[in-house]
Amino acid sequence: MAYFETSHAPGRHFLQIPGPTNVPDRVLRAMDNPTMDHRGPDFGKLGKQIFSKLGRVFGTKGSVVIYPASGTGAWEAALTNTLSPGDAVLMCRTGWFAHLWQEMAERLGLKPEFIDTDWRRGADVEGIGAALQRDTAHRIKAVCVVHNETSTGCTSRIADVRAAMDAAGHPALLLVDTISSLGSIEYKHDAWGVDVTVAGSQKGLMLPPGLSFNAVSAKALAHRGTLPCSYWDWRPMIAANATGYFPFTPATNLLYGLDTALNMLIEEGLEQVFHRHDRHAEATRRAVRTWGLEVQCADPWHYSSSLTAVRVPEGHSANALRATILQKFNMSLGNGLGQLNDRVFRIGHLGDFSHLALIGTLGGVEMGLRAASIPHSAGGTQAAIDYLSGNA
Ligand SMILES: *Cc1c(COP(=O)(O)O)cnc(C)c1O
Repeated sequence: MAYFETSHAPGRHFLQIPGPTNVPDRVLRAMDNPTMDHRGPDFGKLGKQIFSKLGRVFGTKGSVVIYPASGTGAWEAALTNTLSPGDAVLMCRTGWFAHLWQEMAERLGLKPEFIDTDWRRGADVEGIGAALQRDTAHRIKAVCVVHNETSTGCTSRIADVRAAMDAAGHPALLLVDTISSLGSIEYKHDAWGVDVTVAGSQKGLMLPPGLSFNAVSAKALAHRGTLPCSYWDWRPMIAANATGYFPFTPATNLLYGLDTALNMLIEEGLEQVFHRHDRHAEATRRAVRTWGLEVQCADPWHYSSSLTAVRVPEGHSANALRATILQKFNMSLGNGLGQLNDRVFRIGHLGDFSHLALIGTLGGVEMGLRAASIPHSAGGTQAAIDYLSGNA
């Protein structure tokens, strides 16, 4: 049963926003254990168990720091641990989340230089390369990229960004937001030469909101700036984590959940997890095209595997469609953010998600399109079934 139910709706609510995502029962049960003494003898066992697995999800052998905070806190940690007031940072405004990160950088006293996009593709790799080539004085201290832009459903190809930085021979740090991609889209912190990876608990990691992460390269650790940084300081965290403990009270019950969620990802196999997300994303795009609607992402190289943003035809309201779907079919879809408000709706297909959950979700969208009188062709859900059954 839902926590708030104004009127009884039979069946489960479909939470198909691109985060927070549905939390598996196994994770919920793990969190439903008594809170333990975070300085007691058992706690270090839990901490060590988590740290022994956590790096695999990030693709790193280095340190991963866990904060009791939403993803935004881990953004702040990435910036304040490494940079100094007035430092130039190069950002690519791929969508709403990139825009918010830029605003934070400004508030912290950094000098963001940004490259705009049309919000229909990932980061502008040529633009980043050119800006770094021009910066012969090395004023730019960090390049900040959102891996999966959750407002548009466009995934930036981080290996390409790294290659552009290397081609420019520029020493800037590479900071990457993977809040809506970690644990759902392939990611390699070490192999792609990322210096700080920012992540959150409530999307691909299948946990409730409340934890966030920084994976940290040796270069980033050595790059201590002079921005004020105390609560977010990596150093006391990493020192305490060596024995499985934390310098302040960790989110104990969320850590039980994290331990279990990591087990689930490892049991399924990360390769299989990524493959599952790729397939569900492709099935969703086939449904959208069959309906005669347009995917917001205009470049197939940047298609997101964790969500799909769908444009509604001119003269129609994506918000009215979402309201109809919520009221009639008890399903929540993501809204359009910033300049995409009312222009797109977003289907989250990440985290603890199956073929049947996808077909139910697409069925709800298709019935909603009909109920809200949005011009479309029938058969999108069938196209997804055909693809997933191998008859496409
Ligand atoms: C969800 C999200 C955020 C914001 O994270 P919070 O947990 O809400 O602070 C930032 N970036 C991206 C790409 C996101 O998807």
